[in-house]
Amino acid sequence: MASQMTAGGDDHERLAGRPVGRVRFMDAQRVNLDGFAREDAELGLVALRSPHDPEPGLLIAEGRVVELDGVPEASFDAIDAFIAAHGIDVQAAGEAMGLPDVEFARRLVSPDVPRAEIVRLSAGATPAKLARVLALLRPAELGQAMTKMRARRTPSNQAHVTNRLDDPLLLAADAATAAAFGFREIETTVPVLADAPSNAVACLVGAAVGAQGVLMQCSVEEALELELGMRGLTSYAETVSLYGTEQVFVDGDDTPWSKAFLTSAYASRGMKMRVSSGAGAEVLMAGAEGRSMLYLEARCVALARAIGAQGVQNGGIDGASVAASVPRGLRELMAENLMAMMRNLESCSGNDALMSESDMRRTSRTLPIVLAGSDFMFSGFGSIQRYDNMFGPSNFNAEDIDDFLAMQRDWGVDGGLRTVPAERIAALRAGAAQACRAVYRHLGLADFTEEHLERAVDAAGSKDLGETDTLAVVGAAHAIREGGLTVVDVVAALDETGYEDEAERIMAMTRARLAGDYLQTSAIFDEDLRVLSLVTDPNDYAGPGTGYEPPPGRLRQIDAIRQERGVEDLRAEQARFAAPLLAAVGPAGPGQDPRDVVIGVSPAVGRDVWRCLSGMTVPEVLAELLAGLEEEGCAGRVVRFGDTVDLGRIGLAAARLAGSGIGIGLQGKGTALIHRRDLAPLANLELYSVAPTVTGELYRLLGANAARHARGATPDPARNPYSDEAIEARYHTRVIALMALERAWVRPGAPPEELSQEGLR
Ligand code: CA
Repeated sequence: MASQMTAGGDDHERLAGRPVGRVRFMDAQRVNLDGFAREDAELGLVALRSPHDPEPGLLIAEGRVVELDGVPEASFDAIDAFIAAHGIDVQAAGEAMGLPDVEFARRLVSPDVPRAEIVRLSAGATPAKLARVLALLRPAELGQAMTKMRARRTPSNQAHVTNRLDDPLLLAADAATAAAFGFREIETTVPVLADAPSNAVACLVGAAVGAQGVLMQCSVEEALELELGMRGLTSYAETVSLYGTEQVFVDGDDTPWSKAFLTSAYASRGMKMRVSSGAGAEVLMAGAEGRSMLYLEARCVALARAIGAQGVQNGGIDGASVAASVPRGLRELMAENLMAMMRNLESCSGNDALMSESDMRRTSRTLPIVLAGSDFMFSGFGSIQRYDNMFGPSNFNAEDIDDFLAMQRDWGVDGGLRTVPAERIAALRAGAAQACRAVYRHLGLADFTEEHLERAVDAAGSKDLGETDTLAVVGAAHAIREGGLTVVDVVAALDETGYEDEAERIMAMTRARLAGDYLQTSAIFDEDLRVLSLVTDPNDYAGPGTGYEPPPGRLRQIDAIRQERGVEDLRAEQARFAAPLLAAVGPAGPGQDPRDVVIGVSPAVGRDVWRCLSGMTVPEVLAELLAGLEEEGCAGRVVRFGDTVDLGRIGLAAARLAGSGIGIGLQGKGTALIHRRDLAPLANLELYSVAPTVTGELYRLLGANAARHARGATPDPARNPYSDEAIEARYHTRVIALMALERAWVRPGAPPEELSQEGLR
């Protein structure tokens, strides 16, 4: 027996080392394209705590930090020295460092401890202390703390707008689209550095067409980025990177002082400024010094505070997939964001780098932050397609906008986005591309054909543009840079080419920028150019019933996704398939002929319901059933039952009227069964329960099998076809509406009526 069981052909394959089919199937799933690293503290491949992380500690002498996390002043590296000098509030230090980690963590999570109190305590805590406290929080506690700790009450979102060709008209159309979707910051960058000034102008014009008050960044080499900002073409920057070890700073020819200088250069020229850091950067440069990712990021965030930046873009960023490769990596990424909030900084919460090939894993990474709410849920949602994202694909991209809008609605949370009607997207894209073309033409930068403009308006991405003149873009960028072009020139060009409203929008935004309020921590403009920030719109969450909830108007926006349908929508859709068929020809009586099979249909058939879930019309289905009956020597009658919507009862009633004692039940949605007069209502002979998947051939087979039953045979039963569709998700909304239409025609005690077969075949 044993030898027989191991003698099969499959066994040879197993012996050759090939996994069984179940495992081969699992291997083929996309998650197995991801890399997973074994935890290795020596390499810094450890999320929350490494044996080489220092013990938290702080010694203060005469108001000065003389020992930080176990390192005496004489041994400070550049990061220690900068944090010790500028990053610790010595007034709060004794209390903060004296709090047991668990007690600190509890206060962080508790709605009863105000945000301001956590900010006060955190200012006195060292990096190692905050890392220890955050490592204690479970995922749901991280979310709870984030809801309380983010700086701005109203959450928001940031988009990437780029394309592989740096095409100005496409950039303008896409910037307008992103602004219309609700993104309040738009970041562009270039595959070709020389194109940068052109990208900045195109996005500036496009965003202004889409919505008022969108902040703009052109992420490039610092000198050029600062220059574009000083010319008023861009309004924020987040390219200044911080690292958690001195070695990595030095490798990049930088120090905390040089980064502080650069940060001040931006902020003092009126640019909103945040720094970038995040797990994985030090590991990738083999400079983690055996520390955990969370501890190194704690040093970065302490530095960000000490440097004077108003915010931090973190949560992995370029190293997100490094964090995601180790155990508890996603907890670490979320803890990074929370750490920035605790230090009273704006959080721009990552989710910008695609961290997995698996849709489930990348959703699992982003969703908790969207549920908790952040100043910016994404520090770069790819509002364009993955292939056009010149930062590399984001964790969510244009492919995912409808998913994201549905997720907002599912949870009733404000992720910063809204549905835009198709016609409005078309109009805004056309307006943006035309305005951009007019500016380029007026300023002598470049000219674009009507055909190119139309393609840019319609394009889902740069692959749809066809052949373009990329040298013209380089030329335009050169002219902008060398010509000293400023935002005022763009405003004048818009004004002189008939785009007065757009000119006024950009001018108003420029005035608001000069007023400077948007340099407050966590500032955005709303669409009326009011500044929402830590100062003007502070987060006041203190438990249920407090803090930000989408106001009623905003909630309606979140709820009204374009795929939403009601019963009246479905009634109208069904009416488009109405036909002068299936007229009632009189009461239906019992048949005598042993070849008589009755097809019983539901109350709304031939009235409000005309089309099944499969896409076939009810007359088409009836024609197939009748043909099947005929093929096997029976004759069918079509009878409408008006007293029930229950298919078992319709089928049984049909069988009882039939001379053969066999009936077919058919609901308007397409569910069908065969019944026999002596059975209980639920005990049918054959059933197609999955209406959307049933084909004409299968209905014909059901008709033929009904005839075989009528002749006393035992046919091979018809079966539902294979399907892996989310049938319920796809169709239940329509089923509910269809059943409502059916129910409206139910009349208790209504006699069955025979329907005309004329025109069915
Ligand atoms: Ca960003």
